[in-house]
Amino acid sequence: MIRMNLINDYYILMSIITRFAPSPTGLLHVGNVRTALVNYLFSRHHGGKFMLRMDDTDLVRSTAEYAAHIEEDLHWLGLKWDVFARQSDRLPRYEAIKQELVKQGRLYPCYESQEELTIKRKMQVSRGQPPLYDRAALKLTAEQLHKFEQEDRKPHYRFMLKDEEIRWNDLIRGDTVFQGRHLSDPILIREDGTMTYILTSVVDDMDFDISHIIRGEDHVSNTAIQVQIFHAIGSKLPEFAHLALIKTKEAEISKRTGGFDIRGLRANGIEPMAISSLLTKIGTSEAPEIRFSLEDLIKEFDLGKFGRSPANYDEAELTRLNHKYVSQLSFADITPYLQAMGITIDENFWLSVRPNIERLSDLREWWDICVKPLTPPAEEKEFLGTCRQMLPAEPWNESTWSQWTAAIKDATGRSGKQLFMPLRLALTGKEHGPELKQLLPLIGYDKVMARLKG
Ligand code: GLU
Repeated sequence: MIRMNLINDYYILMSIITRFAPSPTGLLHVGNVRTALVNYLFSRHHGGKFMLRMDDTDLVRSTAEYAAHIEEDLHWLGLKWDVFARQSDRLPRYEAIKQELVKQGRLYPCYESQEELTIKRKMQVSRGQPPLYDRAALKLTAEQLHKFEQEDRKPHYRFMLKDEEIRWNDLIRGDTVFQGRHLSDPILIREDGTMTYILTSVVDDMDFDISHIIRGEDHVSNTAIQVQIFHAIGSKLPEFAHLALIKTKEAEISKRTGGFDIRGLRANGIEPMAISSLLTKIGTSEAPEIRFSLEDLIKEFDLGKFGRSPANYDEAELTRLNHKYVSQLSFADITPYLQAMGITIDENFWLSVRPNIERLSDLREWWDICVKPLTPPAEEKEFLGTCRQMLPAEPWNESTWSQWTAAIKDATGRSGKQLFMPLRLALTGKEHGPELKQLLPLIGYDKVMARLKG
């Protein structure tokens, strides 16, 4: 679809296609889900398409299981892709491009082992030189090359970067400039013949007509390299936007950090819209507030609001948004969840505890508090004994609590915290929670009597 779109205050005439391109070598974490969300919202906001691409050419580290988890997590978040590709299905296409680049002299075979390269790098660093590949492979004589072939040594291939200025107008970083001579010729094909995503990504971005590449700032120098590869394979350049990386107070978030994966958050009762509401606003000029559907986020999405300073991720903020989300759900909304949880509560119970839960799974705890026996507290026995004597007979309703506590107040002279806290602790085992006037009828006469017993 060709559309006029206003992006960052200028009109572009193009069809928008973005992509999310995870390598299935681990679980999705908040960092890469943010990239997925931003790509998705950007394309939807502009009436474009969204592609999911599995960058699975690293045969050693990629697994079908991780790929399946990634798809499942994206479904759970509500992200739908219009186009799907798996790089492992496209190897002949990459092979053809490889041949083409070799013919052009832009891709050249190298025979150094890892150890040799490490030694070279160390020597350069000790001489105060930048650790750039010295292109020794280009100086090999025909004889030496022949010898390597005889020995059956397998080459890896590097892309020959041109010594020229590489420049693009990044939709987040603005004018971005690299000098070709400051970059090392990258390895595009490994010794075992597998290709790195540096090359395959460019081929796919060209073949699938990707209009905008939005990804983490850790890819900026890859982009500089890829700009030259786009030119070498005769492709127009897509637009680029590099998101500042996500940080917590303690660390940067990556696959290796652990503890930030979406499955973990899901298992912990965090709702998809809490995640999406937070991850699409951190690092922008807007404060994250809960949104109840992706449609809302699509409508208000603006790439121009993303800045260059690191995006701060705070799990407490996520919990706050989750509370906002769950506390507005209706009884009908949570019915499927109750079935899955195997508890049968009524609407009255839901409306009573709703303001006090951070996650739906907290319902179980309040449910248990209402229905299961609770050990009476050791303190305030005399006071609780008096309360017990004054407990009105059933039937109870929402005014029972105020009648009861007014009578206790008259009898004991207590008021405020002194009156309410011992009762709350005795009846629920907790210092905070839903209003007792609502909980009281849910707990019922027999259990209240038992909890007040000394
Ligand atoms: N597969 C790469 C990664 O997970 C991303 C490639 C790209 O965005 O071009 O880091």
